[in-house]
Order: sequence, then C-alpha cells, then structure tokens
Amino acid sequence: MQSVDSILPKKVRIDDVIREVRSYLENPDLELIRRGYVFAMKHHEGQWRKSGAPYVDHPVATSYLLARMRLDAVTITTGLLHDTVEDCATVDSEMVKELFGEEIASLVEGVTKIGQMQFSSLEHQQAENFKKILMATARDVRVILIKLADRLHNMFTLEYVAREKRERIARETMEIYVPLAHRLGMQWVKTALEDLSFRFLNPRAYYDLVLRLSRGRKEREKYIEEVLALLKDLLGQHNIQGEISGRLKSIHSIYRKMQAQNLEFEEVMDIIAFRIILASVAECYEMLGLIHSLWKPIPGRFKDYVALPKANMYQSLHTTVIGLKGERMEVQLRTQEMHRVAMFGIAAHWRYKEGAATDKDGQKFDWLRQLMEWHRETEDPRAFLAGLKTDLFSDEVYVFTPKGDVLAFPKGATPVDFAYRIHTQVGGSCVGAKANGRMVPLRYEMQSGDRMEILTRKDQKPSRDWLQFVKTSTAKQKIRAYLKEEETERSLAAGHTILEKELSRYKLSMGKLEKAGDLLRIAQKYNYHAVDAMLAAIGYGKLSVKYVLQELVEPEKLEAGPVESAIDRLLKPLKRKKSESIKIQGIDDVLFRMAKCCSPVPGEAIVGFVTRGRGITVHTADCAIAATLDDERRVEVEWGEGGGQKTVATTIAVLAQDRAGILAAITSAIGSLEINIHEIHSTNLEDNNAEIHFVLEIKNIQQLQKMLAEIGKIKGVQSARRLRG
Ligand code: MN
Repeated sequence: MQSVDSILPKKVRIDDVIREVRSYLENPDLELIRRGYVFAMKHHEGQWRKSGAPYVDHPVATSYLLARMRLDAVTITTGLLHDTVEDCATVDSEMVKELFGEEIASLVEGVTKIGQMQFSSLEHQQAENFKKILMATARDVRVILIKLADRLHNMFTLEYVAREKRERIARETMEIYVPLAHRLGMQWVKTALEDLSFRFLNPRAYYDLVLRLSRGRKEREKYIEEVLALLKDLLGQHNIQGEISGRLKSIHSIYRKMQAQNLEFEEVMDIIAFRIILASVAECYEMLGLIHSLWKPIPGRFKDYVALPKANMYQSLHTTVIGLKGERMEVQLRTQEMHRVAMFGIAAHWRYKEGAATDKDGQKFDWLRQLMEWHRETEDPRAFLAGLKTDLFSDEVYVFTPKGDVLAFPKGATPVDFAYRIHTQVGGSCVGAKANGRMVPLRYEMQSGDRMEILTRKDQKPSRDWLQFVKTSTAKQKIRAYLKEEETERSLAAGHTILEKELSRYKLSMGKLEKAGDLLRIAQKYNYHAVDAMLAAIGYGKLSVKYVLQELVEPEKLEAGPVESAIDRLLKPLKRKKSESIKIQGIDDVLFRMAKCCSPVPGEAIVGFVTRGRGITVHTADCAIAATLDDERRVEVEWGEGGGQKTVATTIAVLAQDRAGILAAITSAIGSLEINIHEIHSTNLEDNNAEIHFVLEIKNIQQLQKMLAEIGKIKGVQSARRLRG
C-alpha cells in the first residue's frame, strides 16, 4: 500500500534535495541552493522544532518537497530561506535581497505574507479565501507552491503540535490548501495534504481504514498482479507499448466514497485503480476499445477527460469494467504528457514551456506572464485554470494591510478607498500612501498583492477632488458627507455675516434680536427649526435675507433702504424661469468663472453651478467633478455672443514616437491654425515614445477639435487628446 509517509524520508538532507533537483534539471544552479542552505543553517542555529529536531530540518524538507514538485533552483532556494525573515532576528528582507537577489527576496516576502493571512470563518469563506490567496499571489504562483510545500511538511510533523492548534491547522489544510493544490492540478500534493489532514481530523476513521486495508493486503496484491498480467497480454497482442500499474486509491478518497454513498468498507468495490500510460492519444482510445471488448463496461462510468479536460487541465480516459470475478475494475488511460500534468499541474506546464523555449537563462521565469499567455493561447474554456481565469481577470483587486490582512476592492480602487476602508478618520486625514514601501500618489490604482500603507496628517481634510478617482461607494459617501457638513458650516458663517451686515444698515442688533426670540420666531415662520438652520439657508442662498428683514423693518423703511445687496444681485439669475438659460457674454464676466478642472472652451456644452461668493462656476457638460456637485445649485448656461472673443488656456497631450522632426511637425500644425503656444513639456516613455504636453490659447471648441485632428494625422503620432484638470 502506498502510504503518504513514503513521500518524505525521515530525515531529509541537503544532498537529498540536490539529488532530486539533478534528476529533472539539466544545469541546476547548485551553488545557489548550497548558499541558501548555509544561510538557513547559520541563521536558524539554536532554533528547534516542536519535534525536537533542529529548525533547519523544516526548510530543508520544504525545499525537498519543492524539488519533488520539480521546481526551479530559485524556488528550491526560496524554500530554504522561507522562514528566515520572519523567524530569525538576524535576517531581514534587505539582507536576503543583497545576498540572493530581488527575485528570491520577493518570493520570501510573498510566502511570509500568506503566512500572516488570517482565515477567520473557514466554512463560509472558503471560496473567498481561495480567491484572496490566488489573487494576492497572482504575480508569482511559485509563492503558492512554496506555501504548499511548507504546509505539507508542517502536516508531516503536526503530531508534535498542541492538540487544539493541531486541529485548527488540519482543518485549514483540508479546507484551503487541499482545494488549492487540486485547483493547481498538483495531484500528489493534494492527496498527501488530504490524507494527512484526515489523519488528524478523524484519527479513528483513518486508522480503522488503515487496519482494514492492511488485512486484505496480500489478496489485493495477488489480484493486482493478475490484472496487470492480463493487461500486459492485451498490450502485447496488439503490439502496443505501455506502462501499466495498479494502486490503491488514497485513504481519504475511499473514506469519501463510503460517506457519500453510505457504504461499508466491504461494499466499496473500486479501491484499486489501474493505470496505463501510452505513447499517444490515439493509443489511449485504441486501448480503451480493447478493454471494453474484453470486459463489460459499466454504463455511465466512462469519462473522457481527454476531449474534455478538467478545469485544472487534468486529462485521462476513465472507465470502470466488470472484471474477472465480477468485481468493478477502474482503468485510467493517459499519455506520458497527461501523466506529468496530472502529477505536477501548473509546474508541469511551466517546465514544458521552458523546455520549448530557447531562452538559455531557463531559471528565470515569470509565472504570471506564463499564466496570462496560456490564457491567451487557449480558447478552450475548459482548459487549465478555467476556473481561475475569471479570478485572474476579475474586477477585484486584493491588497494587504500592514498587518497582513487581505482586503478586496473594485479594480481601479485607490489608496483613498483603502484608507476609508480602514477607518473614516484615516480616510479623511490621508495625505499620502505607500505601496510595497514605495510612495504612490493618492490616485494610484492599487494592484493585487500590494502591501498598502497610509500616511495621515491631523490637519488634512477630505478633498472634493478625491471624488474624481475613488471607486468604493463607502469612500464616496463619506467624502460627500464631510463636504456637506463643511458646506453647512461655511453657509452658517456666511449667513451670519450677511444677516448681521444687513441688520446693521437698519441699526438693528443681531444679538438683541436673538435674545428677544425674534430670530427664532422668524426662523419658525419659514419652517426652520432653529436660528442656525435659517442662517445656513441664508448663507447657502436658499433664503433671501430680504424675507428676514421684512419681518423686522417696517415696509416703508425697507423700500427706502439700500434695496439690493450684493448677494441678492448674485442670486437674481437663479430666479429666472428654468427654461431660460443664462448667457455667458464674455469670458471675464464677473458672474462667471471657468472651472479649472475642465477649462471649458467656448462652443462646447457647458453647465453652471452657483458658488457662494464666487458667482457661477462653469464646467463642461461631461466634467467628472461637475457630476459630483449638488444638483440644487445647477443652472442652465450657454455661450453668449460675446463668448469666444478671448482665448482659453487649454492643455493637450500628444503621444508620439520620439523621432527627429516630430516636434517641429506638431508645432507647425498648431501654428497653421493660428494658435499660440504657451508651454511645451516632453516626457520620454518606454519603447522610444514620448508624451508631449502643450499649453495653448484656444478660441473655441471647433478650433480645438480641428487642431487635434490635424495633429492626429502626423506620421508617428499615436494620439492627441485634451487634458483636463
Ligand atoms: Mn515554514
């Protein structure tokens, strides 16, 4: 019987690792692996496992398991180092980077990150956790593979861990790591993790099965030999080369079958699976036909995973036939390549690709790119990682908090979204952010796997600009709520000033009136519950100060007095009928101000917003900021006849090849339309491209559009667009 314990020698030595690596890698970087080993030895010195073994046994065993997964030297070395940063006071990330390079350092960091993740409610969030692990590490799948090897070795030594912890770890393994290994197509890893977890979660059932299986062992071996001989004959008769084996299914899979079909152990018929590995797909089908002609197939048990691979890319033909003694006999047929994929999953694919590649520097590879490429190549939706596909291209990103928790955000979410998710206070006072230790702008789009950190300052306040780029509704709501409150405060102060000023014209004291209760009476008359609410309404422009005055001043005096205040003059346009829009006569109209965020150009569609104390601000109709403004303040505006007499400073961005003469071509196109150029800035990009910004004096939208079209025609120009804000 093939026990899970046969996977790992009792004590693994670095030579075992190296022997294993040599068996599948042609020119492995053994020097690197040895250096990793010496480093781990040195820094784990004096540390011990719960089993009493030196700590370094664990990283060595982990790297051995990675070698059994047939991974590259970099991954094997990372296996040796994977616990040094977290567990050795003498080691930090920088040191690993210096000694072993960026790639290994970032793999170690990834493994450490996963180790810090918390899986709080396993039962309910299993799928969610999956996604989180996968997404957080999607940059380099090797991180997951190292974590799998790490967990696998920990499962082998779980008996030394305290009982409650033991159960928690076994459950987590069963619920998270087993499905993960399955999804990555790594069959032997999955089976091993599963049997080990089962052993700790249900020791009675596990050892009961072990006992029952050992009882029938002799008979079973004899039976296997008989069938193997028959199959061998069959191959020989038809001159087909093939490798035949018969093996006991895993303990947990037998147990699962008993549970699912409510069977006693004796009733489980197919505890043995026969496997034939053949040279070609055609031979697989041929052999299948031969088996079916010799033994009667059980209807409904034939599965063609060759034509329809499983989601993890597993391929094989499965059939169950009625054997010699009337027993059920399961046979799996596959090619050598299918077998490799079945055993090594994602790792097998990578190795296959590497073998085909001409790149001599075969140690270096980028898992994610491989994955992505693979997705692009395969149009078969059932192909490997089909399930992952949706995850990889999902609309969510997963990022880490400084504590290592994983948070999900919609794609495109920014540090501000992150900050608001942590706490409203943090959101409101964030001034900067770091992603993976590097400063990023607040409008940075977070990437899966980023470790985010928010910098705050007490006197920072939420900005209206943030509404332009935040993606989560919580952040939006909280920013709006803050702005509204701030606005109320400002309106209150403004209302106070306005009323006090107007009252003083009539020699009235606001303080006295308030004490006498006059202001509250007036407020209530106009349906405001408090004086402050009325003042805010005055400041905001909802209530004309005139209505307050007429309650306090005799009509004759009021008539005679200074009739119109500046505020009332300003509000006049608002009182016009809705259908009637305000015409902008000239750019410099006192009442109008062009919004800086979108700098409207005469002739294009615009909207106006009343801004207290600043008249009306004009935005373009499609301006993102305008879309966030209060609808109550919106007024219809249009360009008047005077519009367009002056020019508007407008910035455009041109993406072009960085070649001689291109700048001259663009400037002459601009000049030919009699447009003045204020400024030019050029930024060199990758691939010999440059982004050039021009600040121009534009007369109207037609002129702007015509110019952009002209620039677009220039050879070497990829795009020309107007820049906002
Ligand atoms: Mn470890």
